[in-house]
Amino acid sequence: MSGCRAEAIVIVGGGLAGAAAASVLGRGGRSALLLERDPEPRHKVCGEFLSVEAQTYLAHLGIDLDELGASRISRLRIYHRGRQAVADLPFTARGLSRKVLDEALLEKAATLGARVARGVTVRSLTFDETGARIDAGSFGPIRAETLFLASGKHDVRGMKRAASGSINDLIGFKMHYRFSEEQHSALEGAVEIVLFELGYAGLQLIEGGIANLCLVITQERFEQVGKRWESMIDQIMHECPSLADRLGGALALFDKPLSIFQIPYGFVHRPARSEPQGLFRLGDQIGVIPSFTGEGMSMALHSGCLAASIFLRGGRASTDFHRQMSSDVQRQVRLAFLINKAARYGPSQTAVFHLCQTWPSLMQQVATFTRLREGSMQRALALP
Ligand SMILES: Cc1cc2nc3c(=O)[nH]c(=O)nc-3n(C[C@H](O)[C@H](O)[C@H](O)COP(=O)(O)OP(=O)(O)OC[C@H]3O[C@@H](n4cnc5c(N)ncnc54)[C@H](O)[C@@H]3O)c2cc1C
Repeated sequence: MSGCRAEAIVIVGGGLAGAAAASVLGRGGRSALLLERDPEPRHKVCGEFLSVEAQTYLAHLGIDLDELGASRISRLRIYHRGRQAVADLPFTARGLSRKVLDEALLEKAATLGARVARGVTVRSLTFDETGARIDAGSFGPIRAETLFLASGKHDVRGMKRAASGSINDLIGFKMHYRFSEEQHSALEGAVEIVLFELGYAGLQLIEGGIANLCLVITQERFEQVGKRWESMIDQIMHECPSLADRLGGALALFDKPLSIFQIPYGFVHRPARSEPQGLFRLGDQIGVIPSFTGEGMSMALHSGCLAASIFLRGGRASTDFHRQMSSDVQRQVRLAFLINKAARYGPSQTAVFHLCQTWPSLMQQVATFTRLREGSMQRALALP
């Protein structure tokens, strides 16, 4: 590649995982070039539920959730048709929009020395024995000794995830609402999970008293409602009166919902022997845990911090990082995947709901078993 920019470290994607890696590298005295395709901060499909592990990583990265106005969440309510199961969360969670959170992380990475290039879409990636070749469109070609691939749900040509065996017929939607005072106080302090035929929704408050509704639904059910958001929400509210109480008369804050297709829940990257040692896959590029756990963001932050920390110690991507990451998240992703599969259809949903109602501690157990272990986090948080 003639006229090619040469870089030691390039990060593709400035979401949670990419920004976390850039910050840790910056603290370790290594300035990465971070390429983010969005020219400006934007909303992303996400439940916006921050687990205690995600909060630990964010504090480590210097993000002050109070300053950003994050809500506090300490109770879980699950609804199935007209019934409710309630449990205390084993920790206080926080709610914050991804638009605010991702921007705060990117700004932090820049202050720690990352060179953030926005509005740059990486079109394709190839590797040879000297490193990565990056086609960054009009930004120009780049060669990088080490590449951190943090493009999230979006695969980049040349480095697609091998996501066979995962659930991949689900569509994710997100809508923000302004609630009435009464609706606001009914939801305050809780995250509500609503189970409905072939899907589930999560509802909680984020900053500024705004409510975030995020739901996943099978492609099949979405097609049954004529692929229309309004009809889908009407049907789900009809099936789940609790959601009708929450959303009735609420003001939708986007013209149309955000959506994402084919989420490969259950995917965990297994590096092939031939995989380049200079390629660190982060976040959703290394593993995708079903959303109801609210652990995707902590896994993404964990992967970014762990990869950068291993890199700074001179460790290798494929043999050191990917192996460690797989052992850190495999069990949690597998368990959540099995629950997600079981709670898909009416009868099995009813059974899962009955178990939760009879033994509320079961919900806490699931929340505990799908979280990152303390030992894994200590490894990632220990800087060289
Ligand atoms: C429906 C749903 C609900 C969820 N709810 C929760 C929740 O409540 N709590 C939780 O913890 N997790 C949740 N998650 C999971 C969480 O959103 C993800 O795990 C997390 O965002 C992964 O972070 P990431 O950095 O890997 O990817 P992302 O946050 O997606 O960031 C990737 C970045 O890369 C950029 N990019 C993509 N392609 C390119 C390219 N070619 N060139 C340059 N830049 C590129 C994108 O613009 C983006 O900024 C949910 C996920 C879904 C689908």
